[in-house]
Amino acid sequence: MPVLSSEEYKPLEDKLGYTFKDKNLLEQALTHKSYAIEKGVKSYETLEFLGDALINLIIVDILISEFPNAKEGELAVMKAFFVSEDFLSALAEDLDLGKYLLVGGKKGKFRINASILGDAFESLWGAIYIDTGRDLNFTKSLFENLYKNKVISMAKSQEYRRDYKTLLQELTQKKWKERPVYRIVSVSGPQHSRVFEVECSVRNFRALAVGSSKKEAEQLSAKRLLEMLQDL
Ligand code: MN
Repeated sequence: MPVLSSEEYKPLEDKLGYTFKDKNLLEQALTHKSYAIEKGVKSYETLEFLGDALINLIIVDILISEFPNAKEGELAVMKAFFVSEDFLSALAEDLDLGKYLLVGGKKGKFRINASILGDAFESLWGAIYIDTGRDLNFTKSLFENLYKNKVISMAKSQEYRRDYKTLLQELTQKKWKERPVYRIVSVSGPQHSRVFEVECSVRNFRALAVGSSKKEAEQLSAKRLLEMLQDL
């Protein structure tokens, strides 16, 4: 039996436009491992794994349908933004997802951060997919009804371009639990128009870029590395 009643989940289901057949599955989707360990129940981790893959697929399909002429590198940078913790946790906040999360520790002690919200958002979509009897078309349509316009308008306004360093770090943390390292290779040019060359590296991958400031060169090198890593 779910901890929360069907009534309590109703506002969430209304926002999604989807009513779960299996409320236990919905509850599992919202069960953080801190709670799961305390109570000996299943956490959302497997559903998150599934939802992550689903959201990747749906986002890529939205992007290539809307921007058929975009280069792969550009699509990769867009995708990295739309599957990022930043973006997904904002969608989770729109759903008020934090309110429904089951977390462990003394009441209020466990802090629900953006990372947990993003993960719970992914697991929610994994759970929807399972709950529909693995109906990919339905799940994809539901997701697109809710978020397609937002994704497209943010992509068009180039809002995803803001911060390549953050996007890259998220990707490498996820892939290898490592952070990229930035190193100034050279500084040249006269005082008033310096040229900075920066190398960004992680594992045995490296990208070089130049810019008129250290910050600009770092951002560009992060962008290059981000594009490289998408092909792995
Ligand atoms: Mn995740």
